[in-house]
Amino acid sequence: MRRLKIVIRGVVQGVGFRPFVYRLAREEGLRGWVKNSPQGVFIEVEGPEQTLDDFLLRLPREKPPLAFIQSLEHSVLEPVGYPGFQIRRSQDGGEKQALILPDIATCPLCQEEVFSSTDRRHRYPFTNCTLCGPRFSIIQALPYDRRHTTMKKFTMCERCAREYEEPQDRRFHAQPNACPDCGPQLTLWDSAGAPLAGHDAALREAAAAIRRGEILALKGIGGFQLLVDARSELAVLRLRERKRREEKPLAIMCPDLESTRRCVHLSPMEEQVLLSPQSPVLLGRRREQSDIAPSVAPANPHLGVMLPYSPLHHLLMKQLGFPVVATSGNLHDEPIVTDEQEALATLGDITDCFLVHDRPIERYVDDSVVRVQLGRELILRRARGYAPLPVTLKKTLPPLLAVGAHLKNTVAISRGRDVILSQHIGDLETAQAFFAFRKVIQDLLRLYEVKPRAVACDAHPDYLSSQHARELGFPVVEVFHHHAHLASCLAENELEGEVLGVTWDGAGYGDDGTIWGGEFLAGDARSYRRVATFRPFRLVGGERAMREPRRSALGLLFEMEGTAALERPPGRAGWPFLEGLSEGERRLLGQMLARGLNSPLTSSCGRLFDAVAAFLGIKAVSSFEGQAAMMVEFAVQEGVEDGYPVSLLAAGEGRPLVFDWEPLVRAILLDQERGVEVGVICARLHNTLADLIVEVARQVGLERVALTGGCFQNRYLTERAFHRLQEAGFRPFTHQRVPPNDGGIALGQIAVAATKVA
Ligand code: ZN
Ligand code: ZN
Ligand code: FE
Repeated sequence: MRRLKIVIRGVVQGVGFRPFVYRLAREEGLRGWVKNSPQGVFIEVEGPEQTLDDFLLRLPREKPPLAFIQSLEHSVLEPVGYPGFQIRRSQDGGEKQALILPDIATCPLCQEEVFSSTDRRHRYPFTNCTLCGPRFSIIQALPYDRRHTTMKKFTMCERCAREYEEPQDRRFHAQPNACPDCGPQLTLWDSAGAPLAGHDAALREAAAAIRRGEILALKGIGGFQLLVDARSELAVLRLRERKRREEKPLAIMCPDLESTRRCVHLSPMEEQVLLSPQSPVLLGRRREQSDIAPSVAPANPHLGVMLPYSPLHHLLMKQLGFPVVATSGNLHDEPIVTDEQEALATLGDITDCFLVHDRPIERYVDDSVVRVQLGRELILRRARGYAPLPVTLKKTLPPLLAVGAHLKNTVAISRGRDVILSQHIGDLETAQAFFAFRKVIQDLLRLYEVKPRAVACDAHPDYLSSQHARELGFPVVEVFHHHAHLASCLAENELEGEVLGVTWDGAGYGDDGTIWGGEFLAGDARSYRRVATFRPFRLVGGERAMREPRRSALGLLFEMEGTAALERPPGRAGWPFLEGLSEGERRLLGQMLARGLNSPLTSSCGRLFDAVAAFLGIKAVSSFEGQAAMMVEFAVQEGVEDGYPVSLLAAGEGRPLVFDWEPLVRAILLDQERGVEVGVICARLHNTLADLIVEVARQVGLERVALTGGCFQNRYLTERAFHRLQEAGFRPFTHQRVPPNDGGIALGQIAVAATKVA
């Protein structure tokens, strides 16, 4: 007889792990106990040695589907003579090690109950079990127990309590367990908050409102969403107008997979992503013939689609039977609203009615956005379903905090070998977003009880995030933007040693004080060398160039031909992209460039894409950052194999190689003059950039190449570069679980800071 002491860390709380251990131990005839603690799941079992071995083997092999074991440690001890097997009460205190689960989409069993007329949870919108339901959005403290969630205000009825106590039940210790008799309830409000209906009538009338073309604000899992009939151009336009959202694509929710297939082309991999417990918004290729209104995603061959992920969504979508726009309930780019009163104040002017409920949302969690690239899932916006699952690194890290950059921001903390990335916060452009950013930092530090030894921030002196980092009172480690991108990709892929990082994005502060964005960095988390870069050009008007691709185009022209290029509009009909500017504005921009006034130098790849968008008449003024570059990608005609010549110049000993874009730009303008199709020119641009990557990799001579930065959200560029590198004998790496854009910066900052802090 022996006693086994086991500690399991990972995603083992709230997924039915303890009942599973209970059943397994009983089956094997073992005695002892299992309990949750902040450090993970603790098990002690006694029995014959052979049976204990068997138990140890079966644990990871037969674990519940959503459980994820990160480590399983055990020691063999003398038996103490336990009488039977029991589940012990959770324990507080101690260093917090247990992981917090993300919110999990409704499981098939719960769906079945909700739609079964004989089930006691028939049409109950808050049905959940140990396999599914809200987690991260309702947790207030660890360990994950009902009294530490926003469900604590609901007392379970007798039947729910019985399920909760019964080890054989699917709802055994399901913390948010609820039913129509004891759980949260729905209410429908008009736009001023006056109640219109309750319970199931609220749901039915909300559906009727959408059917009439009205805008519904729905309190979902991680915050409010705005819903309208996705087939009604009028309704969608009204939403855009009221939300002041001009062209940025809106995501839709379809009733089921079948109807999703009618809107977008789906590969088996893409279907799997849609049906996963994460249930994200998937960017799919739009079908030409679908009943989705054009203004859902104007001039965009892609469509963001998702499936219902809570019983409330399932019920509503079933009632409707057609796709709806489902976009974040916020104003402009502010953080998503979670509280009813806040919703009334913020969304009252946008929405026609509110469908609310009385289960409080502890923290906002947006819908995640995913794209399938290279046949793999690539997360572009990491929030619901993914946050706060950690990225586990090879080595133990000191406790650190990273505050990210500025756009698409996330923050991160480290704990042991785990880096916990926050949910997507967004662009720190508004007071509300900055407030949310500070709140998320406090929330993470409190929840995980981390006392950071240092805080890592972007080296940009003006970023609000960097300024805030300095005010926190911890030692500050400044990390250069593109070094963080590189380190993020290396961390995710568990790469050590020198790698060539192709770090391409819109803008990031470089170590020479200019704006970087088309960089090749050789290095690791410790250090880097800038081995190649794009020839710099001027961004006239600085920040404004981000939204005005024509300014990037002007910068290139000026670099090529000086002021003459601007005064003498070349081409037969002049520069069409300058048409929106008056004579005076044009002269002013020319003077700014000539004198270098508010025209910082940049080596940005993103802005080069912007310039091409302006030249080709694709987009002269954008309505959101990255739009023009995205449209250049979308314009690509498939099947074009050739590119333009790559001009890579040596700048002298110890200086980075310089990619001279001038021959590329001249070739593009020549093609345009010859009347070559825009789609062909765009393909050639991408092909040239992929060739450039291979050429630099050859000259640098490092086998492993990491593709990172916002430009690698571009599927054509990423796949082309990846395959080209492979063909040339290199080993390319990309992101998967962490976004390549600035949403992944915080992870890189932690990795870099960890090498500088003891
Ligand atoms: Zn379930
Ligand atoms: Zn109940
Ligand atoms: Fe970046």
